[in-house]
Amino acid sequence: MRIQEDISLAEYTTFYIGGAARYFTTVASQSQLKNALEWGTAESVPLFILGGGSNLLVSDDGYAGLVVKIDIGGVEYETDAGEVMVKAGAGVNWDRLVQDTVRRGLWGMENLSGIPGTVGAAPIQNIGAYGQEVADTVRWVEAMHKETQEVKRFANEECEFEYRSSFFQTDAGAEWVITRVAFVLDPAGSPNRSYTDLQDYFASEYEPSLSEMREAVVDIRADKFPDLDAVGTAGSFFTNPIVSKEKFAALQDMYPKMPGWEMKDRQIKIPFAWILDHVFDLKGECRNDICFFQKQPLVVVNYGEGTAEDIQALASHVRARANDELGLAVEREVTTLGIE
Ligand code: NAP
Repeated sequence: MRIQEDISLAEYTTFYIGGAARYFTTVASQSQLKNALEWGTAESVPLFILGGGSNLLVSDDGYAGLVVKIDIGGVEYETDAGEVMVKAGAGVNWDRLVQDTVRRGLWGMENLSGIPGTVGAAPIQNIGAYGQEVADTVRWVEAMHKETQEVKRFANEECEFEYRSSFFQTDAGAEWVITRVAFVLDPAGSPNRSYTDLQDYFASEYEPSLSEMREAVVDIRADKFPDLDAVGTAGSFFTNPIVSKEKFAALQDMYPKMPGWEMKDRQIKIPFAWILDHVFDLKGECRNDICFFQKQPLVVVNYGEGTAEDIQALASHVRARANDELGLAVEREVTTLGIE
């Protein structure tokens, strides 16, 4: 195991922002992870687990602890009684896994094409897009306890998946480091075109194939979201607020065109991008090099020299306005390191 010192974290995040980690190591197996966790405990340094860095904002001052980058690879397929299970290491690139499953004719992840990040990060916030979420296909999540190094498999129900959240975001769940995830996919699935963007993409009577669904999602995303190779971003910066029907009705009295989607529990999810655009008029607005992306203002972009401080200032402004003007509590979707 090699522990490096004073490693800049900006290059490990897709925001390209952040100071240095006091200690940094990369682990490619469970046993390397165990060694890293034991080293952190022995040295009494705080610990941060890093995946693809695509949903992370690191403080400009960096992190005075040990950052463990998860690089555990490996993808295995198993077929049993018509069911196909794929097990993937936590460090596997999410979109490469989706591409591989689509190539093999397996349905279940195609609408999650083009999402940056790793397999291990996907269950933590229950990534979702265009009517699919990982909770729909996860069979189990394998994880190592940070203190005891016990390895445990969490069945789907134990992951407590909800809209963009899971057990792994709770205090008890944060004690675990995800090492592998198993998904069950369907060789005989059918396209989910419930979202308008996908309905608009295909002629209404056309039944797209699995690979056409993936292509459509990749194309739609390329049109709407910034190119990660060109600008810094961590994707959607805030989560969409979820409110009661009564609260939504009160908001619609003020803004009759405000959209809302009913959730399984009958609460209403409001697309916060609409509020940023139509209520706060912040689309394309910037502070220094940090901007609300013109085509999708929920996405915060760094056009070069932006800092975590710039982002925090913009985010505080938005949260205060959401609270004061609309009575909405808005949460950050991105994970932070070294930032309260
Ligand atoms: P969009 O398609 O413009 O939709 C905007 C909002 O309306 C989203 O909150 C979406 O809910 C909701 N919505 C639209 N059609 C819906 C339907 N038929 N039923 C229920 N809700 C509906 O969204 P976008 O900003 O361009 O993003 C595209 C997709 O990528 C969305 O599904 C978005 O959630 C997803 N995405 C996910 C992450 C993540 O997992 N961290 C990050 C960025 C984008 P949902 O949010 O529930 O889809």
